[in-house]
Amino acid sequence: MSLDFGVYVHIPFCASKCDYCAFATWTDREHLVDAYLDALTTDIGRAVAAGMAPASTVFVGGGTPTLAPSAALADVIRSIPVQPGAEVTVECNPDDVTVDLLADYRAGGVNRVSLGVQSMSAHVLSALGRTHDIANVERSVAAINEVGMPSFNLDIIYGASGETVDDWRDTVSAALALRPPHVSAYGLTVEAGTPLASDPDRHPDDDDQADKYELVDDALVAAGLANYEVSNWARPGHESRHNFLYWRQQDYRGFGCAAHSHRSGRRWWNVRTPDRYIDLVAAGGDVEASSETLDADTRRFEGLQLLLRTRDGIPADSFSPETLAVLDGHLRPHDDDPHRVVLTRSGRLMANEISMRLT
Ligand code: SF4
Repeated sequence: MSLDFGVYVHIPFCASKCDYCAFATWTDREHLVDAYLDALTTDIGRAVAAGMAPASTVFVGGGTPTLAPSAALADVIRSIPVQPGAEVTVECNPDDVTVDLLADYRAGGVNRVSLGVQSMSAHVLSALGRTHDIANVERSVAAINEVGMPSFNLDIIYGASGETVDDWRDTVSAALALRPPHVSAYGLTVEAGTPLASDPDRHPDDDDQADKYELVDDALVAAGLANYEVSNWARPGHESRHNFLYWRQQDYRGFGCAAHSHRSGRRWWNVRTPDRYIDLVAAGGDVEASSETLDADTRRFEGLQLLLRTRDGIPADSFSPETLAVLDGHLRPHDDDPHRVVLTRSGRLMANEISMRLT
């Protein structure tokens, strides 16, 4: 059996910058898109020639991958060697999705799309600094169904300024009406350096976030989507294998500017700007900007923190007996292994605090 190995491809272009976003993306470099896709193909080709293993999962994210010409992006994806049955996902902006775009992706081997819905309420989208039209979400899902895309995810966010619990309920209901096999629901987080960070009046409230988490969990579970990581729910068989690869500390290789890679405890990341990435690839230079190697203790601790957030859970003896007693109600035995513990829902609401108590 082949080992799990992931490939991430970063597309660093966006039509406009969302208010809360700290990702490495640019809104003024569309003139670089073609050169950037060429650089990706060259960089991937060099890695393949150097013996890169076939991927079990591929994830094309950003940024906004759907801003790139779809046939050219499909060519980049096709240049990545994959194992039989690999999961190949592209993040899509609902404004850009058409049947033709998805048909190009399908021809490139894409079998899953992740749709950045965020909210189904116009005033909440505007508070998030997002531009897309809600009707485009419905059109996108119709296109996904029309091309027979085997799986898709809807990404939604709660906690924007001015979002009421009723707004959030409407977003969740409208998302569920589209019958998604997978939903990611994230609480809005305040990232340093964003416009949101400099406006404390609009920062999310913890109690409000907790109410909205419980609301979305109830609704998704009732609709047959099981929670398998704090912020992710899926119908059986539609869990994101690429995400699990990160959570299980497996190896992955990132292509493109600002992309991160990991192999056996060594992590490295590429130069931050698309300009620099294109120039370095053209010159045959090394695109790695910097790296770190985790010592065994740090790696073990990080591994437990990540797995604790998933339905895999962690060995019960990762906590002291005293801590286990204090956390009663926030942890429960794993269904298949009494020596492991998993978070209950109240535990998922405190996942960060609980992970600080690992021994
Ligand atoms: S579309 Fe996504 S990547 Fe681009 S600015 Fe908005 S949140 Fe960030």
